[in-house]
Amino acid sequence: MSQKILFKNIDEPGLATLDVYRARGGYGDRLRKALSMPKDALVEELKASGLRGRGGAGFSMGTKASFLPKGQMDKYLVCNADESEPGTFKDRELMQKCPHMLIEGMIIAAYAAGANKAFIYIRGEYQQQAEILERAIEEAKAAGLLGDRLMGTDTSLTLWVHRGAGAYICGEETGLLDSLEGKRGNPRLKPPFPANQGLYQGPTLINNVETLATLPHIIEMGASEYAKIGVQNSTGTKLISISGHVMRPGNYEIELGMSSRDIIYGLAGGPGDGRSVKMWFPGGSSSPVLTGDDLDLPYDFDSMAKAGTMLGSGAIIIVDDQTSVVDVALKTAQFYRHESCGKCTPCREGTNWTVKMLERIKSGEATPMDLDLMASVCENIIGHCLCVLGDAMAMPIGSMVKKFRTEFEEYIEMARARAERELMAGLS
Ligand code: NAD
Repeated sequence: MSQKILFKNIDEPGLATLDVYRARGGYGDRLRKALSMPKDALVEELKASGLRGRGGAGFSMGTKASFLPKGQMDKYLVCNADESEPGTFKDRELMQKCPHMLIEGMIIAAYAAGANKAFIYIRGEYQQQAEILERAIEEAKAAGLLGDRLMGTDTSLTLWVHRGAGAYICGEETGLLDSLEGKRGNPRLKPPFPANQGLYQGPTLINNVETLATLPHIIEMGASEYAKIGVQNSTGTKLISISGHVMRPGNYEIELGMSSRDIIYGLAGGPGDGRSVKMWFPGGSSSPVLTGDDLDLPYDFDSMAKAGTMLGSGAIIIVDDQTSVVDVALKTAQFYRHESCGKCTPCREGTNWTVKMLERIKSGEATPMDLDLMASVCENIIGHCLCVLGDAMAMPIGSMVKKFRTEFEEYIEMARARAERELMAGLS
């Protein structure tokens, strides 16, 4: 299970330049082939590949492209390069080492969607990657791969890089669109989905970096060949970022359906030093956690969903047996409280209450009843917010309380006893 597609030549020196990228097959026949296909046929090809969005939601890429209305109107393509989910850093490597793969994928996606204006919305912290992309766009323009009548066809595409300013919420697609329009990045009510009403109210196709970078390979291989990789309903390869308590953290390309144990221990070396996996986030910090008993699950969209969690952005974060679940829960909740835009009440208040309750547990002021309260706050956030940010805190915290309740209770007792001792020492 070691097929590499996106990372095949990723460490080749100079791959970020047009010359080396072209020498590796970039932009040539496969792009000509895509641009010569009728748009509908191209969309059908993308659907047939089974490619599911690599940003986190796993929505069918071809189906999303098919939702854009037909006819002459201003349509847009937006690449979501905000990559703000904690633990996720695969798009950074892809953009840094092979920016032309993304640009080529965007040309194909824009053509399929009938868009002639496209944006890469990249998180503000990725300054180096933004500069690399800018340089690659200039090279592509000079070579006639972007701009008017690209590659001598009737297709035109203008591509801009837009840097964000460091807000997690701007990775949420409608918050991103508001930010791109120059407004405060707040999520919009959906529907309407961006495919119908997105940037400047126009139909907009939004996809993640990895999703778009996969398109040239699907065209080159053919959808049916691509669909043979991976498992049913989770075709292809996936870039994953592994971090936390593992010996070899980093980005890896895996075939979907690979055993989680082979990823965590085989590729990343496991926690090492006689330690074991206590829990793990399979898809970024917003995914419900799994435990050391779940290591033999296949790593694909459906297997993760069946296990009550999600593959998400492909960011696996490992927590070993020497780490307190309370510390992990508090850190996670603090992140989402800080990043909540505050627009809707369940998220704004719910993330704040959760942090406060976890702080009470830490300081020895909580009782086991607080765990029920916290679980109920989490339940009341899920599905009641404008966007998934509230859920992104409630799902992992709710799962930690459920799966590690005994450890939470022991911590509460231990912290209460410590607080009492300190009080007594202060009085004596
Ligand atoms: P979603 O399921 O609401 O939508 C997925 C995509 O499909 C969107 O582009 C949406 O517009 C489109 N869509 C869905 N139904 C549609 C319809 N009926 N008509 C037209 N289009 C439709 O999920 P989401 O809010 O886009 O993403 C949530 C996920 O993002 C989370 O699960 C999390 O894993 C992930 N995430 C990733 C990062 C990162 O850094 N990569 C950061 C935060 C969150």
